[in-house]
Amino acid sequence: MREQHATRSDEQADIDHLQRDVLEAVALGRPLAAVMDLLCRAVEALAPEVICSVLTVDKDGRVHPLAAPSLPASFSGALEGFQIGPKAGSCGTAAWRRQPVEVTDIASDPLWADFRELALSHGLQACWSTPILLGGDGVVATFALYYREPRAAAPFHRRMVQACTQLCQIAFMHDRHQREIERLAYFDGVTGLPNRTLLADRARQTLMQAARTEAPTALLLLDIDRFKTVNDSLGHAVGDQVLKHISARLLGSLRDSDTLARLGGDEFVVLLPGCSAEDAMLVAGKLRTALEAPLPLDGSHARVQMTASIGVCAHPRDGADLDQLLKNADIAMYEAKRAGRDCARFFLHAMNQALDERLEIEAALRHALSNQLLQLHFQPKVRLADRALVGVEALLRWHDAERGWVPPDRFIPVAEESGLINALDAWVLTQDCAQLARWRADGIAVPGISVNVSPQRFHQDDVAAHTRALLARHQLAASDLTLEVTERLMLDDTSRPREQLQQLHEMGVGVSVDDFGTGYSSLSYLKRLPVTELKLDKSFVRDLEQDADDRALSSAVIGIGRSLGLAVVAEGVETEGQRDILVAMGCDEAQGWLFGRPMAAGALAGWIAARAEASTG
Ligand code: C2E
Ligand code: MG
Ligand code: MG
Repeated sequence: MREQHATRSDEQADIDHLQRDVLEAVALGRPLAAVMDLLCRAVEALAPEVICSVLTVDKDGRVHPLAAPSLPASFSGALEGFQIGPKAGSCGTAAWRRQPVEVTDIASDPLWADFRELALSHGLQACWSTPILLGGDGVVATFALYYREPRAAAPFHRRMVQACTQLCQIAFMHDRHQREIERLAYFDGVTGLPNRTLLADRARQTLMQAARTEAPTALLLLDIDRFKTVNDSLGHAVGDQVLKHISARLLGSLRDSDTLARLGGDEFVVLLPGCSAEDAMLVAGKLRTALEAPLPLDGSHARVQMTASIGVCAHPRDGADLDQLLKNADIAMYEAKRAGRDCARFFLHAMNQALDERLEIEAALRHALSNQLLQLHFQPKVRLADRALVGVEALLRWHDAERGWVPPDRFIPVAEESGLINALDAWVLTQDCAQLARWRADGIAVPGISVNVSPQRFHQDDVAAHTRALLARHQLAASDLTLEVTERLMLDDTSRPREQLQQLHEMGVGVSVDDFGTGYSSLSYLKRLPVTELKLDKSFVRDLEQDADDRALSSAVIGIGRSLGLAVVAEGVETEGQRDILVAMGCDEAQGWLFGRPMAAGALAGWIAARAEASTG
């Protein structure tokens, strides 16, 4: 019992002490319940005649005991979930009125009508409750002193409660900030989904449990197809909206125990506890179905249709931890992209090996490019009627110390995937123009040169400007140069490649459609785009003598070329029989082993000289 002769200044020193202790606990980041527990115990130590309690009040106006170390548990427990109101005991009424409520005699006070028996049976006879208000949130808690006899609060109690009310406000405010920081640290700001950090946390728990129970776990990596187009063409605000809609759709087809996280950009991860690899494939199917219906764009009647490419992998087969699973799911997702997008793929170890090989080739190719280990070979292009040389096609050759000769079909796709293709094709174009100028200077009659350019370079580089500069530097005529592009580029609707093709055409540079006939059925671009030449793919030429379908197709291609005034060059002509058929069909030009293999620059000069000799001798 507090001694009667305690002076006011002693009391104030006690309150100061209590404040310091509680503030220190807040500053140390102790959990809110622990801080409130400390506060209650400190108050009760200074005033053993009171019993202290803190209840939180939720957004729905229900109370939840937070700290009440000396209240009987059966009394506290009974308060859980009670609705605040105009006649809801001291605390419930204080929260309702947003004002302190002092009940000096529970036995007679009408505010306690509904709780009277409960309180009295626990020996509680008076209760003074103060609401804790927090800007923006209203009442978040009540701080109450109970007495075991009917009475009013002593002046010392009042000073303490004043201090405690402030302490509660500080502690609740701190807790609110803490939770906000956690939200920012663990959740994605755009979609509100767990972020990578929270995913890592959940995955750790799930995988630990899976290791104990041997339950399967699966992981999906989902990448929205062509999301960049949405962002680029409609803006980031619309892009964010679309991501929100997508996350809602995805969530709607998952279970509560699954974790859907956003890794950033357009990548989502789904962690599926208790799910086998096979079931994961079904989930992937459900997710794709969920995206099928077009998504609304807020503030507009327009809708966008989005699809996803999904990589699937399973624990523990495809990885022991999240990092490994993510890496392998990424490889599988990438496979899904390669397969044409809008589909799901399992991770297979073979994929990993293929990736390793691609990475090795990429590194070796980078090294070869910067150390001048690449060469160009040139294949004659001849007029079929008299076998006169009409040009040469430059073809890239790579001899690697470990791998020997690596065919372009193996390293060009790797260069395209890694982005190295731009530097590679720029190097080729530069070398080719220099080579043609050298031949010209040496009096070697090479009429023109054809250079393969990957579609990617037209997106990322200014091929037209580069070409213009090279022609000027080597004093070559634009008509000396033909750029070979694939149908893939022709069907690309984006403006950048289009404008460059147009500029090249206006300069007088030839544009040839390589591997014609293998790609797409649409031919309408031939009329719209500045094409000067079609190269009939060698796969049609190969079986010309045996296959009636290939004959029909080749004949059609040649017919299209003629009717549009384009030169048609047959590729891969190896036999006289093929040549005869092509001549009969009206094909103008050809390349192939029958006339000349791709050869180094010096060998080509010899080949040209030998032919000149043969025709004069
Ligand atoms: P492409 O442009 O269609 O080149 C024709 C391919 O047919 C060349 O293969 C050539 O060696 C081959 N060939 C020529 N005559 C015959 C023949 O009579 N029979 C057979 N069976 N094949 C013949 P190569 O050199 O392996 O090049 C393959 C592809 O790699 C090229 O196809 C081209 O698309 C690409 N490529 C080559 N060099 C470059 C380059 O510098 N840049 C880019 N982007 N791609 C290149
Ligand atoms: Mg070519
Ligand atoms: Mg070709």
